[in-house]
Amino acid sequence: MHICKNKDELNAVLEPLRDQQRIGFVPTMGALHDGHLSLIDIARTKSDLMVVSIFVNPTQFGEGEDFEAYPRNLDTDMDALKAADVHVVYTPDVADIYPEGAASDVKAGDAAQGLESDFRPHFFDGVCSVVKRLFEAVRPDIAIFGEKDYQQLMVIREMVEAQNMTIEVIGAPIIRDAHGLALSSRNAYLSEDELGIARMLNQILSLAAHDASKIDDAKEMLLTAGFDKVDYIEERWGRVLGAAWLGTTRLIDNIEAQT
Ligand code: AMP
Repeated sequence: MHICKNKDELNAVLEPLRDQQRIGFVPTMGALHDGHLSLIDIARTKSDLMVVSIFVNPTQFGEGEDFEAYPRNLDTDMDALKAADVHVVYTPDVADIYPEGAASDVKAGDAAQGLESDFRPHFFDGVCSVVKRLFEAVRPDIAIFGEKDYQQLMVIREMVEAQNMTIEVIGAPIIRDAHGLALSSRNAYLSEDELGIARMLNQILSLAAHDASKIDDAKEMLLTAGFDKVDYIEERWGRVLGAAWLGTTRLIDNIEAQT
């Protein structure tokens, strides 16, 4: 497994292979779990050469959000990536991605309107800015993103089209624990008690996914279950999407609407 810390190292590994091999790319912020590994599994079936990036992107975190506290487990991540037969891991630092200073310079399109943007207005411009740079560095044939971050998947598809990039964006199903809680690096913040409450999120979203008239009730149910604040529950793209807070941890999830 090649570990490339900057674009030059990445180019040195990828350029000689680019013509013969189909490159599959999985961008991550590290603290890898089975959700990330499922994206790598999809990349494995659809490409010859798997590239995974680990980069905690400062421009998608707002003032007072968890950029510093975000879990970083590089050694454990490397073991998991080796075990998954990943060919190239790209672990740039901020200067490699943002040589001109960390700032967003790509405007997210219409899919970014509402939902997450109502609560994290900086978020999708930051995501687009980093994903565009990662795509330019890796130049993959395909890139895999989780449906866990459904609005993000829609925003990235839109950006790829708007930028005329010839990259196939593939959405991957949400991986959950035995209780239905969507795996997330941020679950590491949760106490045992909070975990119990967090596991209600998918169940309550599922009620609303079966009956959209229950969306308002679902917000109340989350608060009754122990969530401290509900940012939104809304139906869009045939999914019911939700975001809610447990203490200082913000969880998101979504479920296909059945109505
Ligand atoms: P992150 O490291 O949180 O930025 O996530 C990297 C990629 O993994 C994104 O495309 C996420 O949507 C995806 N991902 C995160 N959690 C899950 C999950 N539980 N199931 C499927 N994909 C996921």
